[in-house]
Amino acid sequence: MSHTINFQQAGEQTKAVHAGEYPDPATNASAPNIVMSTTYVVDAGTTFSVEGLEENEKWIYTRWGNPTIRQLEEKLAVLEEAETAVAFASGMAAISALLLHCLKAGDHAVVSDVAYAALSETTNEMIPALNIGITKVDTSDPDAVRAALQPNTRLVYVETPCNPLLRLTDIEAVATLAHNAGALLAVDSTFATPAATKPLLLGADFVIHSLTKYLGGHGDALGGVILGRKADLTPLRKKTAIRLGGTLSPFNAWLILRGIATFPIRMRVHQENALAVAAYLEQHPKVKQVVYPGLPSHPQYDLARRQMHNFSGILTFRTEDGPAVARRLAEKLRIIHYAVSLGHHRSLVFYLSSRELLQTSFHFSTPEQLASWNAFAGDGIFRLSVGLEDARDLIADLEQAIRD
Ligand SMILES: *Cc1c(COP(=O)(O)O)cnc(C)c1O
Repeated sequence: MSHTINFQQAGEQTKAVHAGEYPDPATNASAPNIVMSTTYVVDAGTTFSVEGLEENEKWIYTRWGNPTIRQLEEKLAVLEEAETAVAFASGMAAISALLLHCLKAGDHAVVSDVAYAALSETTNEMIPALNIGITKVDTSDPDAVRAALQPNTRLVYVETPCNPLLRLTDIEAVATLAHNAGALLAVDSTFATPAATKPLLLGADFVIHSLTKYLGGHGDALGGVILGRKADLTPLRKKTAIRLGGTLSPFNAWLILRGIATFPIRMRVHQENALAVAAYLEQHPKVKQVVYPGLPSHPQYDLARRQMHNFSGILTFRTEDGPAVARRLAEKLRIIHYAVSLGHHRSLVFYLSSRELLQTSFHFSTPEQLASWNAFAGDGIFRLSVGLEDARDLIADLEQAIRD
């Protein structure tokens, strides 16, 4: 049997099952083995510095490279149609390695003013303390991105749909702006996933995923990845990934590899369930607003339809007196877990108070930025990650818990 599949012609589900996976050469085992070894027996004269490390060299030390992690990287590169991928211990390990790879003292970056909280907090203080300038703008407005670009801008960093607002950024438009200014574009595509959007095909230079979310999909393994061109990622792997050491555990790589086998199938059901739950919430008398890219009421529905081939499974909603409803949900929900995180097979819901987030994570500098926040979130939102349970059970669970 030959194990080479032409993935350029294969469908998404065939890629998800087969890419990066080969029968074990020692045993012919059909499923991938986990290689947990941290070190490998090598020949005398083997290099001791990662500087001398060649691509596809023998395995030497797992922080430098590991067969199970490499299988996951190959699968992710095929799914995202990227030249290559570097896996990390978490999404934040990937993001911090990317920032330190792209930016040095004296450089400047433009960053989405609303994005994953830990990225927002890192770029509020830690990165500026390295004498790297950061301008936060609403990247859903290309004019705001254009106005923020400076001669020393090296990176534009966006998240679309962004956490937690589900506001979108037009990747093609922002890629053109960034490139015209001599900057690279990084897109955190965790919410969209490769089932919805392939940012590299729209002009982005780097794609980031928290593998903890939809790609792993089962809430049992942290992981992260950066995808892009070999010319960028080979030095990133050597200089930033291997030295900062945010290496993915091979066991987590194996769990995520296994999770991805069903990824396209899961995304279809996440979308179908999210549409059903969003439609239910939109007509609920206690619900003031529902934001979901798959609803015609989303203010960027046209962009969502153009840029997302799957609307994914995350929605937000608002009610009167959010904190009181949050207490009811935490006490009364039976199926949906009141918990942070998203993209798991289990449904998760969590209340995010605007007052808290605007203090800790998101610092706005213009009235337009605040107005856009208010339009999407008001005084606070419930973020609901719609899982793979039956939609009617999720709706019944919400119905009995939202009721007074
Ligand atoms: C969760 C998340 C991250 C961080 O990923 P971790 O694996 O928790 O470190 C980054 N970006 C987005 C959009 C996320 O949802």
